[in-house]
Amino acid sequence: MNQQAKPAGGCMCSAIRYEGIGDPLYIGYCHCSSCRHHTSSPVAAMLVFEADKVSFLAGKRSIYESSPGIGRSFCSKCGTSLTWEGHGLISLLIGTLDNPDDYPPTLHWRYEERSLWCDVASDLPKVKMVFPESSQA
Ligand SMILES: [Zn+2]
Ligand SMILES: [Zn+2]
Repeated sequence: MNQQAKPAGGCMCSAIRYEGIGDPLYIGYCHCSSCRHHTSSPVAAMLVFEADKVSFLAGKRSIYESSPGIGRSFCSKCGTSLTWEGHGLISLLIGTLDNPDDYPPTLHWRYEERSLWCDVASDLPKVKMVFPESSQA
């Protein structure tokens, strides 16, 4: 991970811009059905931050509540999926970073739900997501 650069990014039309402060708690792939739908991809990759460590510098993201207390944000102008939000965390989708190469994923969440033909970095650890306020998966 590049310790100098800030994780910054935004949507395809640049109406929404964000910046993370410091290093993320985790960088991982999530294989759950909700992440796959939100990103229209076989697997989602994201940087997880404590919510107060992410600043939105421009624009206003739209949020879809995919389950109680869990928000999935996107740009209502260009449709780019941007974040997963809940449990005091905000996850930035790696595909929206300016410098995604600085943040290689180190683990998998919900690996048991993966698309069976999606073989990506299968040597990385498979773990349960741990939220700051509980050990709930
Ligand atoms: Zn946009
Ligand atoms: Zn997920």
